[in-house]
Amino acid sequence: MAEPFPLEPSLWAATAPAAVPTPPLQESVTADVCIVGGGYAGLSTALHLAERGIKAVVLEAREPGFGGSGRNGGQVIPGLKFDPDELETMFGNERGPRLVDFVGRTADVVWELIDKHQMDVPNTRTGWIQSAISSPAVGPIEARARQWQKRGAPVEVLDRRETERYVGHNQYLAAWIDRRGGVVQPLAYARGLARAALAAGAAIHGNTLATGLERQGGNKSGKWIVSTQQGPTVTVDRVVLATNGYTGDLWPHLRQTIIAANSFQVATKPLSDNVRKSILPGGQATSDSRRIGLYYRLDHTGRFLLGGRGPMREPRSIDDWAHIETMMEKMFPQLKGAGIDFRWGGRVAITRDHLPHLHEPAPGLLIDIGCMGRGVALQSAMGRAMAAYIASGDPLALPLPPGKVRPLPFHGLNKLYFQAFVTWYRFLDRRDAGVA
Ligand SMILES: Cc1cc2nc3c(=O)[nH]c(=O)nc-3n(C[C@H](O)[C@H](O)[C@H](O)COP(=O)(O)OP(=O)(O)OC[C@H]3O[C@@H](n4cnc5c(N)ncnc54)[C@H](O)[C@@H]3O)c2cc1C
Repeated sequence: MAEPFPLEPSLWAATAPAAVPTPPLQESVTADVCIVGGGYAGLSTALHLAERGIKAVVLEAREPGFGGSGRNGGQVIPGLKFDPDELETMFGNERGPRLVDFVGRTADVVWELIDKHQMDVPNTRTGWIQSAISSPAVGPIEARARQWQKRGAPVEVLDRRETERYVGHNQYLAAWIDRRGGVVQPLAYARGLARAALAAGAAIHGNTLATGLERQGGNKSGKWIVSTQQGPTVTVDRVVLATNGYTGDLWPHLRQTIIAANSFQVATKPLSDNVRKSILPGGQATSDSRRIGLYYRLDHTGRFLLGGRGPMREPRSIDDWAHIETMMEKMFPQLKGAGIDFRWGGRVAITRDHLPHLHEPAPGLLIDIGCMGRGVALQSAMGRAMAAYIASGDPLALPLPPGKVRPLPFHGLNKLYFQAFVTWYRFLDRRDAGVA
């Protein structure tokens, strides 16, 4: 796997509070649970295990928040890509409504954690907006809002004029606003989770790459031994893999169950008051309905941030962000000449069915992977659910039933297919928007 793009060029690394020290693992230890991956999923699992008195050790290859959790758009979005009615049909009478209830509350978990642990995380909770760029997108957006309304969620459909008022340009035909959502400084939040997990009694080791996973003595009921690049091991009853878009080859074929696609972002220099007030004046974040969607917001430093799909490789030069910068000026001409302060990107894990996946391929090994670029809320809540499952053994504590590890056929080629799809989707988006 290619060396991941570093975290430092991001806006978030430049503006987050300092990280708590998480020194590398120096000597072999025993614990109840070893968690590989220090993003929202791993850190939330560790925090909630520690709060239950279960001894958890997190191994993180770089630093907490190094993966998607420290680089994302900070949009806190409840729900999944599928609508509630679809989820109920897909998962049946028992699992379906529970899953809908779970995904409807994921954003609440983020703010509960921020409040409970008094995290130093710039955030606003005035809603998340999904906007329709073309007429085929209007019906699905309205239906989505209606389905959530039926379930008591604080959401509304916005007509064209209202959407313009919220977003600041007139290129959308309609939108819906989900008032459960909002924005956070994502790296500050990851660091807040790490701090809270440590305070609750978990151990977190940064710069510690997990390199092997085996049963003690090769015995199927033996303890798990997680080995690390530096040598020390962690011996535990249970392991949680929470490596998502940064998954390597720790467990056979896991990496091949996802496409690790890049999402790239830019952030402007701080804007003048006048320009700032002309864009998303209510402080919401928005993602639009394009198949290759754009997502944007302002941050607490008064910068405008825009993200979208990048090439299927790590960035090479600033030209890799040029398409995003062009879109930015098309949507908001007042940003011409605003200047770009930060360009960065990260890996988003896409699954074949566009659902998050849980796996339990061996007793005591739980895997959480794939959140389609919507993991801030989801993975915070997933970590809490995984901790509850580990503590109770109740399969219904997990929002989804664990499935088999099924690699995508011809995974190496899938990147090429994916790139072809991206090109095709871009064409369809332009056609729907009347510019192809
Ligand atoms: C550019 C971008 C924008 C996004 N925007 C949004 C958004 O606005 N809203 C939203 O909800 N979601 C967004 N997402 C998705 C979201 O960031 C992710 O879904 C979420 O952060 C995933 O969290 P995680 O804990 O599962 O994994 P990650 O945060 O990716 O953490 C995985 C960690 O595992 C570590 N690791 C991997 N292998 C090993 C190993 N062998 N040993 C030790 N450690 C290992 C990695 O270093 C990494 O830190 C975005 C993602 C990107 C990349």
